[in-house]
Amino acid sequence: VPAAGSILYLDGVSVSFDGFKALNALSLILAPGELRTIVGPNGAGKTTMMDVITGKTRPDEGDVLFDEKVDLTRLDESEIANLGIGRKFQKPTVFEHLSVFENLELALKADRGAFATLMFWLSGEQRDTIDATMARIGLADKSRHLAGALSHGQKQWLEIGMLLMQDQRLLLLDEPVAGMTDSETEATAQLILDLARDGSRSLVVVEHDMEFVRALGAKVTVLHEGSVLAEGTLETIQADSKVIEVYLGR
Ligand code: ADP
Repeated sequence: VPAAGSILYLDGVSVSFDGFKALNALSLILAPGELRTIVGPNGAGKTTMMDVITGKTRPDEGDVLFDEKVDLTRLDESEIANLGIGRKFQKPTVFEHLSVFENLELALKADRGAFATLMFWLSGEQRDTIDATMARIGLADKSRHLAGALSHGQKQWLEIGMLLMQDQRLLLLDEPVAGMTDSETEATAQLILDLARDGSRSLVVVEHDMEFVRALGAKVTVLHEGSVLAEGTLETIQADSKVIEVYLGR
């Protein structure tokens, strides 16, 4: 089986919009526990790839398999989320009028639905989980702060924390450091490396910031015109003449 040993397997995936191929026979294999960075010029198909993995867009052709054998092309967005695939968009969508703790509490109880869940008591174990997550995302001293009062970077970390409350097996992060200061970017790289280190989840990070890509030190996949142009270490792909041509124009 070609997908054996993979957490995510895309093979020959194509998506057309009005005859324009946003994805063109895209193939990508991610190992369990792997951290992968995706780069590529605007319009390369990065967002469409994330949309296909999360069930927002159905491919016209190709295989999309999770955990070797779960066919994601047959599932809808909520079914895919329930498998443990979480996505963070560029813009943080935290509840601004709730505290950091309450945002995490809601995310933890999300399966019970809506704000009414804030009326139920938390178990000691759930409290510990939230405290540990706040420490992990660097917001241990912001528990009672309103999310709306956090910096842009802190909101992004809170949203990553909210994804962590769901025990995701695969996290998709779309430009996590866009708009961040240098020190926030550095802290985010450390957070993502920390998340990758425990081996229980895989991460796909789409990013433009090459300093950040370098800090992650992960295998890099370069998308161009809907398919993979190059794959390897940042050093390898930066020396690749095809990649240089695409980024610098001919
Ligand atoms: P990236 O995220 O790498 O910038 P996208 O996946 O957003 O690239 O887009 C790939 C191409 O597909 C672009 O040319 C874009 O204009 C086109 N595209 C994406 N989504 C749609 C859509 N819903 N309808 C029409 N064209 C789209």
